[in-house]
Amino acid sequence: METLKLYYENCHRREFISTVTSCREAKEGFWVTLNATAFYPEGGGQDYDTGILGTARVLAVREEEGIVLHLCDSPLAVDTIVEGRVDWEKRFDLMQQHTGEHIVSGIIHKMFGSHNVGFHMGSDVVTIDFDAPIPLEILPEIERQANEAVFLNLPVLCSYPSPEELPQVQYRTKKALPWPVRIVEIPGFDTCACCGVHVANTGEIGYIKILSCIKFHEGVRMEMICGGRAVTYMGKIFEQNRLVSQAFSAKLLETGSAAQRMNETFSEEKFRAVSLERRLFDAIARSFRDKGDVVYFGEALDSATVRQLADKIADSCGGTAAVFSGKDGEGYSFALVNKSGDVKALGLSLNEALSGRGGGKPGFFQGSVKATRNEIKAFFNK
Ligand SMILES: [Zn+2]
Repeated sequence: METLKLYYENCHRREFISTVTSCREAKEGFWVTLNATAFYPEGGGQDYDTGILGTARVLAVREEEGIVLHLCDSPLAVDTIVEGRVDWEKRFDLMQQHTGEHIVSGIIHKMFGSHNVGFHMGSDVVTIDFDAPIPLEILPEIERQANEAVFLNLPVLCSYPSPEELPQVQYRTKKALPWPVRIVEIPGFDTCACCGVHVANTGEIGYIKILSCIKFHEGVRMEMICGGRAVTYMGKIFEQNRLVSQAFSAKLLETGSAAQRMNETFSEEKFRAVSLERRLFDAIARSFRDKGDVVYFGEALDSATVRQLADKIADSCGGTAAVFSGKDGEGYSFALVNKSGDVKALGLSLNEALSGRGGGKPGFFQGSVKATRNEIKAFFNK
Protein backbone atom coordinates (compact mmCIF):
# COMPACT_ATOMS: atom_id res chain seq x y z
CA MET A 1 0.00 0.00 0.00
CA GLU A 2 1.26 3.49 -0.89
CA THR A 3 2.54 5.64 1.96
CA LEU A 4 0.35 8.58 2.96
CA LYS A 5 2.53 11.59 2.14
CA LEU A 6 2.07 14.10 4.93
CA TYR A 7 4.69 16.42 3.36
CA TYR A 8 2.25 17.07 0.50
CA GLU A 9 -0.70 17.71 2.83
CA ASN A 10 1.23 20.24 4.90
CA CYS A 11 4.78 21.27 4.02
CA HIS A 12 5.26 22.60 7.57
CA ARG A 13 4.51 19.26 9.24
CA ARG A 14 7.72 18.40 11.05
CA GLU A 15 6.36 15.98 13.71
CA PHE A 16 3.98 13.09 13.18
CA ILE A 17 2.75 9.78 14.58
CA SER A 18 2.76 6.71 12.34
CA THR A 19 2.78 2.91 12.34
CA VAL A 20 5.74 0.81 11.19
CA THR A 21 4.57 -1.42 8.34
CA SER A 22 7.88 -3.15 7.54
CA CYS A 23 11.54 -3.20 8.52
CA ARG A 24 14.17 -4.85 6.32
CA GLU A 25 17.81 -5.24 7.32
CA ALA A 26 20.35 -4.24 4.64
CA LYS A 27 24.10 -3.62 4.41
CA GLU A 28 23.63 0.14 4.89
CA GLY A 29 21.13 -0.08 7.78
CA PHE A 30 17.41 -0.84 8.16
CA TRP A 31 14.85 0.13 5.52
CA VAL A 32 11.61 1.05 7.33
CA THR A 33 8.19 1.75 5.81
CA LEU A 34 5.32 3.55 7.56
CA ASN A 35 1.63 3.99 6.79
CA ALA A 36 2.20 7.78 6.74
CA THR A 37 5.29 10.00 6.74
CA ALA A 38 6.41 13.61 6.76
CA PHE A 39 9.92 12.61 5.57
CA TYR A 40 10.41 13.80 2.00
CA PRO A 41 12.31 11.38 -0.24
CA GLU A 42 14.75 12.80 -2.77
CA GLY A 43 13.22 14.01 -6.02
CA GLY A 44 12.91 17.00 -8.34
CA GLY A 45 16.46 18.06 -7.56
CA GLN A 46 15.67 18.27 -3.86
CA ASP A 47 17.59 16.26 -1.26
CA TYR A 48 15.87 13.85 1.14
CA ASP A 49 14.99 14.68 4.74
CA THR A 50 16.80 13.33 7.77
CA GLY A 51 15.59 13.19 11.35
CA ILE A 52 14.37 10.89 14.12
CA LEU A 53 11.95 8.00 13.86
CA GLY A 54 11.07 6.40 17.23
CA THR A 55 14.42 5.31 18.66
CA ALA A 56 16.19 5.38 15.29
CA ARG A 57 17.94 8.07 13.31
CA VAL A 58 16.74 8.50 9.70
CA LEU A 59 19.83 8.68 7.49
CA ALA A 60 18.23 8.78 4.03
CA VAL A 61 14.80 8.53 2.43
CA ARG A 62 13.74 7.32 -1.00
CA GLU A 63 10.55 6.42 -2.80
CA GLU A 64 9.78 3.30 -4.80
CA GLU A 65 6.43 2.97 -6.55
CA GLY A 66 4.61 5.24 -4.14
CA ILE A 67 6.16 3.67 -1.04
CA VAL A 68 8.49 5.85 1.05
CA LEU A 69 11.51 3.95 2.42
CA HIS A 70 13.36 5.31 5.45
CA LEU A 71 16.96 4.20 5.97
CA CYS A 72 17.36 3.94 9.76
CA ASP A 73 20.43 3.29 11.88
CA SER A 74 18.57 0.77 14.10
CA PRO A 75 15.60 -1.58 13.61
CA LEU A 76 11.98 -0.68 14.44
CA ALA A 77 9.41 -3.36 15.32
CA VAL A 78 6.59 -3.84 12.81
CA ASP A 79 3.13 -2.64 13.97
CA THR A 80 4.54 -0.36 16.66
CA ILE A 81 3.48 3.29 16.72
CA VAL A 82 6.41 5.64 16.34
CA GLU A 83 6.88 9.37 16.52
CA GLY A 84 8.73 10.99 13.62
CA ARG A 85 10.63 14.28 13.72
CA VAL A 86 12.09 15.84 10.58
CA ASP A 87 15.37 17.84 10.81
CA TRP A 88 13.60 21.12 10.21
CA GLU A 89 16.59 23.37 9.64
CA LYS A 90 17.68 21.27 6.65
CA ARG A 91 14.17 20.87 5.23
CA PHE A 92 13.22 24.54 5.57
CA ASP A 93 16.50 25.62 3.93
CA LEU A 94 15.81 23.27 0.99
CA MET A 95 12.23 24.54 0.67
CA GLN A 96 13.52 28.12 0.57
CA GLN A 97 16.11 27.31 -2.13
CA HIS A 98 13.67 25.20 -4.14
CA THR A 99 10.81 27.70 -4.14
CA GLY A 100 13.22 30.55 -4.94
CA GLU A 101 14.44 28.51 -7.91
CA HIS A 102 10.82 28.21 -9.15
CA ILE A 103 10.41 31.99 -9.06
CA VAL A 104 13.69 32.73 -10.88
CA SER A 105 13.09 29.98 -13.48
CA GLY A 106 9.53 31.24 -14.02
CA ILE A 107 10.69 34.84 -14.56
CA ILE A 108 13.41 33.76 -17.01
CA HIS A 109 10.99 31.46 -18.84
CA LYS A 110 8.57 34.37 -19.23
CA MET A 111 11.32 36.80 -20.36
CA PHE A 112 13.26 34.60 -22.77
CA GLY A 113 11.25 31.39 -23.20
CA SER A 114 14.32 29.47 -21.99
CA HIS A 115 14.01 26.33 -19.91
CA ASN A 116 15.61 25.19 -16.71
CA VAL A 117 17.37 22.04 -17.96
CA GLY A 118 19.49 21.21 -14.91
CA PHE A 119 19.14 22.00 -11.26
CA HIS A 120 21.44 21.24 -8.37
CA MET A 121 21.01 22.19 -4.75
CA GLY A 122 24.50 21.97 -3.31
CA SER A 123 25.38 22.53 0.33
CA ASP A 124 26.44 26.12 -0.42
CA VAL A 125 24.83 27.43 -3.62
CA VAL A 126 22.02 26.43 -5.96
CA THR A 127 22.92 26.08 -9.63
CA ILE A 128 20.40 26.24 -12.46
CA ASP A 129 21.25 25.55 -16.11
CA PHE A 130 19.20 27.32 -18.77
CA ASP A 131 19.14 26.27 -22.41
CA ALA A 132 19.57 29.78 -23.86
CA PRO A 133 21.82 32.77 -23.16
CA ILE A 134 20.77 35.42 -20.63
CA PRO A 135 22.26 38.95 -21.03
CA LEU A 136 24.24 39.83 -17.90
CA GLU A 137 22.79 43.34 -17.73
CA ILE A 138 19.32 41.87 -17.14
CA LEU A 139 20.34 39.98 -13.97
CA PRO A 140 19.56 42.87 -11.57
CA GLU A 141 16.06 43.12 -13.09
CA ILE A 142 15.51 39.35 -12.70
CA GLU A 143 16.63 39.59 -9.08
CA ARG A 144 14.39 42.62 -8.48
CA GLN A 145 11.33 40.81 -9.85
CA ALA A 146 12.18 37.65 -7.88
CA ASN A 147 12.34 39.57 -4.61
CA GLU A 148 9.11 41.35 -5.52
CA ALA A 149 7.48 37.91 -5.63
CA VAL A 150 8.90 37.32 -2.12
CA PHE A 151 7.57 40.64 -0.78
CA LEU A 152 4.10 39.96 -2.22
CA ASN A 153 3.96 36.86 0.03
CA LEU A 154 2.08 34.89 -2.62
CA PRO A 155 0.62 31.46 -1.86
CA VAL A 156 2.41 28.47 -3.41
CA LEU A 157 -0.48 26.48 -4.86
CA CYS A 158 -0.35 22.74 -5.58
CA SER A 159 -3.00 20.92 -7.62
CA TYR A 160 -3.64 17.81 -9.68
CA PRO A 161 -5.71 18.92 -12.72
CA SER A 162 -8.09 16.33 -14.19
CA PRO A 163 -7.22 14.73 -17.59
CA GLU A 164 -9.67 17.22 -19.17
CA GLU A 165 -8.22 20.28 -17.39
CA LEU A 166 -4.53 19.44 -17.81
CA PRO A 167 -4.21 20.30 -21.55
CA GLN A 168 -5.48 23.83 -20.74
CA VAL A 169 -2.75 24.42 -18.12
CA GLN A 170 0.37 26.21 -19.40
CA TYR A 171 3.26 24.92 -17.30
CA ARG A 172 7.02 24.48 -17.43
CA THR A 173 8.20 20.89 -17.67
CA LYS A 174 11.35 19.10 -18.76
CA LYS A 175 9.45 16.32 -20.53
CA ALA A 176 5.93 15.09 -21.30
CA LEU A 177 4.52 13.68 -18.07
CA PRO A 178 1.88 10.95 -17.62
CA TRP A 179 -1.27 11.93 -15.74
CA PRO A 180 -1.68 12.73 -12.83
CA VAL A 181 0.65 15.74 -12.91
CA ARG A 182 1.30 17.81 -9.81
CA ILE A 183 1.15 21.47 -10.79
CA VAL A 184 2.90 24.00 -8.55
CA GLU A 185 1.82 27.59 -9.14
CA ILE A 186 3.16 30.88 -7.81
CA PRO A 187 0.50 33.24 -9.19
CA GLY A 188 1.88 35.67 -11.74
CA PHE A 189 5.38 34.23 -11.59
CA ASP A 190 5.54 30.52 -12.31
CA THR A 191 3.54 27.41 -13.14
CA CYS A 192 5.54 24.21 -13.17
CA ALA A 193 5.13 20.45 -12.90
CA CYS A 194 7.00 19.48 -9.73
CA CYS A 195 7.01 16.75 -7.08
CA GLY A 196 9.09 18.69 -4.55
CA VAL A 197 8.14 20.40 -1.30
CA HIS A 198 7.86 24.17 -1.22
CA VAL A 199 7.20 26.90 1.31
CA ALA A 200 3.52 27.71 1.80
CA ASN A 201 3.91 31.42 0.99
CA THR A 202 6.70 33.16 -0.91
CA GLY A 203 7.42 35.51 2.01
CA GLU A 204 9.05 32.54 3.78
CA ILE A 205 11.85 32.59 1.17
CA GLY A 206 12.94 35.88 2.75
CA TYR A 207 15.47 36.92 0.13
CA ILE A 208 16.70 35.78 -3.29
CA LYS A 209 20.24 36.62 -4.43
CA ILE A 210 21.66 35.80 -7.87
CA LEU A 211 25.41 35.31 -7.53
CA SER A 212 26.68 34.58 -11.03
CA CYS A 213 25.68 33.60 -14.55
CA ILE A 214 28.25 32.12 -16.88
CA LYS A 215 28.12 30.57 -20.36
CA PHE A 216 27.42 26.84 -20.18
CA HIS A 217 26.90 24.64 -23.27
CA GLU A 218 24.33 26.44 -25.45
CA GLY A 219 22.97 28.45 -22.54
CA VAL A 220 24.08 29.59 -19.08
CA ARG A 221 24.70 28.22 -15.60
CA MET A 222 23.33 30.49 -12.89
CA GLU A 223 24.31 30.40 -9.22
CA MET A 224 21.86 31.69 -6.66
CA ILE A 225 20.99 31.44 -2.98
CA CYS A 226 17.85 32.09 -0.98
CA GLY A 227 16.63 32.62 2.57
CA GLY A 228 18.90 31.97 5.53
CA ARG A 229 21.76 30.97 3.24
CA ALA A 230 21.56 34.27 1.41
CA VAL A 231 21.51 36.22 4.68
CA THR A 232 24.57 34.34 5.99
CA TYR A 233 26.43 34.71 2.69
CA MET A 234 25.68 38.41 2.32
CA GLY A 235 26.77 38.90 5.94
CA LYS A 236 30.16 37.38 5.09
CA ILE A 237 30.43 39.55 1.98
CA PHE A 238 29.66 42.61 4.11
CA GLU A 239 32.36 41.66 6.62
CA GLN A 240 34.93 41.26 3.82
CA ASN A 241 33.91 44.62 2.37
CA ARG A 242 34.21 46.20 5.81
CA LEU A 243 37.82 44.94 6.03
CA VAL A 244 38.58 46.23 2.52
CA SER A 245 37.00 49.55 3.41
CA GLN A 246 39.22 49.83 6.52
CA ALA A 247 42.36 48.82 4.62
CA PHE A 248 41.74 51.37 1.84
CA SER A 249 40.19 54.05 4.09
CA ALA A 250 37.28 54.05 1.66
CA LYS A 251 33.54 54.30 2.26
CA LEU A 252 31.71 50.95 2.22
CA LEU A 253 30.10 51.70 -1.14
CA GLU A 254 33.31 53.01 -2.70
CA THR A 255 35.68 50.06 -2.09
CA GLY A 256 35.59 48.96 -5.74
CA SER A 257 36.93 52.25 -7.11
CA ALA A 258 39.41 52.45 -4.21
CA ALA A 259 40.75 48.97 -5.11
CA GLN A 260 41.02 49.99 -8.74
CA ARG A 261 42.98 53.15 -7.82
CA MET A 262 45.21 51.07 -5.55
CA ASN A 263 45.95 48.69 -8.43
CA GLU A 264 46.90 51.57 -10.71
CA THR A 265 49.13 53.10 -8.01
CA PHE A 266 50.74 49.72 -7.43
CA SER A 267 51.55 49.33 -11.15
CA GLU A 268 53.08 52.82 -11.27
CA GLU A 269 55.14 52.16 -8.13
CA LYS A 270 56.34 48.85 -9.51
CA PHE A 271 57.46 50.57 -12.70
CA ARG A 272 59.25 53.25 -10.64
CA ALA A 273 60.94 50.61 -8.43
CA VAL A 274 62.22 48.72 -11.47
CA SER A 275 63.74 51.83 -13.06
CA LEU A 276 65.33 52.87 -9.72
CA GLU A 277 66.71 49.37 -9.29
CA ARG A 278 68.18 49.48 -12.78
CA ARG A 279 69.97 52.77 -12.00
CA LEU A 280 71.18 51.41 -8.66
CA PHE A 281 72.53 48.24 -10.30
CA ASP A 282 74.36 50.35 -12.90
CA ALA A 283 75.96 52.41 -10.12
CA ILE A 284 76.98 49.29 -8.17
CA ALA A 285 78.44 47.76 -11.34
CA ARG A 286 80.41 50.96 -12.12
CA SER A 287 81.95 50.91 -8.61
CA PHE A 288 83.52 47.53 -9.46
CA ARG A 289 84.98 48.59 -12.81
CA ASP A 290 88.11 46.52 -13.67
CA LYS A 291 88.28 45.21 -10.06
CA GLY A 292 88.53 41.55 -11.17
CA ASP A 293 86.62 38.92 -9.15
CA VAL A 294 83.83 40.38 -6.97
CA VAL A 295 81.67 38.95 -4.16
CA TYR A 296 78.68 41.18 -3.45
CA PHE A 297 75.76 40.90 -0.97
CA GLY A 298 72.59 42.63 -2.17
CA GLU A 299 69.58 43.60 -0.06
CA ALA A 300 66.28 41.72 -0.49
CA LEU A 301 66.76 40.64 -4.11
CA ASP A 302 64.81 37.81 -5.69
CA SER A 303 66.54 35.22 -7.86
CA ALA A 304 65.82 37.13 -11.10
CA THR A 305 67.34 40.39 -9.80
CA VAL A 306 70.30 38.54 -8.24
CA ARG A 307 71.05 37.32 -11.75
CA GLN A 308 70.58 40.77 -13.32
CA LEU A 309 72.96 42.39 -10.84
CA ALA A 310 75.57 39.63 -11.27
CA ASP A 311 75.36 40.13 -15.02
CA LYS A 312 75.95 43.89 -14.75
CA ILE A 313 78.83 43.54 -12.30
CA ALA A 314 80.47 40.87 -14.51
CA ASP A 315 80.26 43.27 -17.48
CA SER A 316 82.08 45.91 -15.45
CA CYS A 317 84.60 44.05 -13.24
CA GLY A 318 86.19 41.91 -15.94
CA GLY A 319 86.31 38.81 -13.66
CA THR A 320 83.78 36.59 -11.93
CA ALA A 321 80.82 38.33 -10.26
CA ALA A 322 79.29 36.40 -7.33
CA VAL A 323 76.09 38.06 -6.04
CA PHE A 324 74.22 36.84 -2.97
CA SER A 325 70.99 37.91 -1.34
CA GLY A 326 69.24 36.44 1.69
CA LYS A 327 69.48 36.15 5.45
CA ASP A 328 71.48 34.13 7.95
CA GLY A 329 69.24 31.29 9.10
CA GLU A 330 67.12 31.40 5.94
CA GLY A 331 69.86 30.90 3.38
CA TYR A 332 71.04 32.89 0.36
CA SER A 333 70.22 32.77 -3.31
CA PHE A 334 73.15 33.45 -5.60
CA ALA A 335 74.31 33.96 -9.18
CA LEU A 336 77.83 33.55 -10.54
CA VAL A 337 78.66 35.20 -13.87
CA ASN A 338 81.85 35.41 -15.88
CA LYS A 339 81.63 36.83 -19.41
CA SER A 340 84.81 35.17 -20.66
CA GLY A 341 85.43 32.26 -18.27
CA ASP A 342 83.78 29.17 -16.79
CA VAL A 343 82.04 29.37 -13.39
CA LYS A 344 80.52 25.91 -13.38
CA ALA A 345 83.32 24.31 -11.32
CA LEU A 346 83.14 27.19 -8.84
CA GLY A 347 79.35 26.79 -8.59
CA LEU A 348 79.59 23.06 -7.98
CA SER A 349 82.22 23.42 -5.27
CA LEU A 350 80.13 26.20 -3.66
CA ASN A 351 77.15 23.83 -3.62
CA GLU A 352 79.23 21.09 -2.08
CA ALA A 353 80.84 23.27 0.58
CA LEU A 354 77.70 25.15 1.66
CA SER A 355 74.84 22.61 1.16
CA GLY A 356 73.72 24.39 -1.97
CA ARG A 357 71.61 23.56 -4.98
CA GLY A 358 71.58 24.93 -8.47
CA GLY A 359 73.18 24.66 -11.86
CA GLY A 360 74.11 26.50 -15.00
CA LYS A 361 76.36 26.61 -18.01
CA PRO A 362 80.01 27.69 -18.45
CA GLY A 363 79.57 31.48 -18.00
CA PHE A 364 76.60 31.41 -15.65
CA PHE A 365 75.59 29.52 -12.50
CA GLN A 366 72.57 30.15 -10.26
CA GLY A 367 71.29 28.52 -7.08
CA SER A 368 70.89 28.81 -3.34
CA VAL A 369 72.96 27.85 -0.30
CA LYS A 370 72.07 27.03 3.29
CA ALA A 371 74.85 29.00 4.90
CA THR A 372 75.56 32.25 6.76
CA ARG A 373 77.10 35.37 5.30
CA ASN A 374 80.37 34.66 7.15
CA GLU A 375 80.49 31.08 5.85
CA ILE A 376 80.02 32.36 2.29
CA LYS A 377 82.77 34.96 2.76
CA ALA A 378 85.12 32.31 4.24
CA PHE A 379 84.50 30.09 1.20
CA PHE A 380 85.61 32.84 -1.18
CA ASN A 381 88.57 33.90 0.99
CA LYS A 382 89.91 30.35 0.60
ZN1 LIG B 1 9.19 22.47 -7.04
